[in-house]
Amino acid sequence: MADLPRAMPFPGPPAPNRLQGLLRPVFGGLLDLIYPRLCCLCKVPVPLDAPRAGMRAWFCQPCADEVPWVEPPFCKVCGEMYDGAFTHDFRCMNCDGRRLAFDFAIAACRAEGPVRELVHQFKYERKLHLRGVLAALLLKTLDDPRLAGEDLATWRLVPVPLHRSREHDREFNQSRELALRLGQATGIPVSDALLRCRETDTQARLDREERLQNLRGAFALRRTRYRRRPPSLQGGRILLVDDVFTTGATTSECARVLRQEGGAEKVVVITVARG
Ligand SMILES: [Zn+2]
Ligand SMILES: [Zn+2]
Repeated sequence: MADLPRAMPFPGPPAPNRLQGLLRPVFGGLLDLIYPRLCCLCKVPVPLDAPRAGMRAWFCQPCADEVPWVEPPFCKVCGEMYDGAFTHDFRCMNCDGRRLAFDFAIAACRAEGPVRELVHQFKYERKLHLRGVLAALLLKTLDDPRLAGEDLATWRLVPVPLHRSREHDREFNQSRELALRLGQATGIPVSDALLRCRETDTQARLDREERLQNLRGAFALRRTRYRRRPPSLQGGRILLVDDVFTTGATTSECARVLRQEGGAEKVVVITVARG
């Protein structure tokens, strides 16, 4: 990714109280002796010489070693991993013959082990501070060779929106939190271009086609005043941000709206995890 700062301003775990928060930047090393920084998963103190930003600020070494990164070979559309030696690009059976509205989807990790646990705590136990570590994982998606050579500073990060009532219950939109953090770290602008206008029934029991049908009309462009469409979308290149990619039905419907109604030229889905 050209022309973007690679320094990672994702701070490590937050200080447990305000006083420490003020003192830690100044007396960091000393405070670590008294109040050790803890691994966000196993709660073991991280070594005193661990970096203060990026993944290693959050994980002890054994937990960092357990992060299940997505590695090739994987489906060139949805990112599903496969065993074996594929020497060419391929589409998995799930994507073959299916019209997905995004160009392709990149996930940083598989939704297993420590990553599944972190996403669960972030979303359902409302541990908002975990957005830092999840965004640090999400950053890995930008290393995908298909984005090499792109000037990502001209792209937009667009979070998958939650319906108002769902966001009210959860108190935050996990995708938006991740997009904001990633935007801070990389300088890529964040645009709340989409709106979820209809809550949908649970998708779990539906098959592929039914899921897509179920989502029709669930998303719309967030209009500016005077009901104009967001001008920045026309011809734009979008990184559509979500926490977990499962079937791709939701992100595909978002991408369809961004393209057909917003005029976006390219939509690439990036997620922390691949379910
Ligand atoms: Zn650990
Ligand atoms: Zn696929």
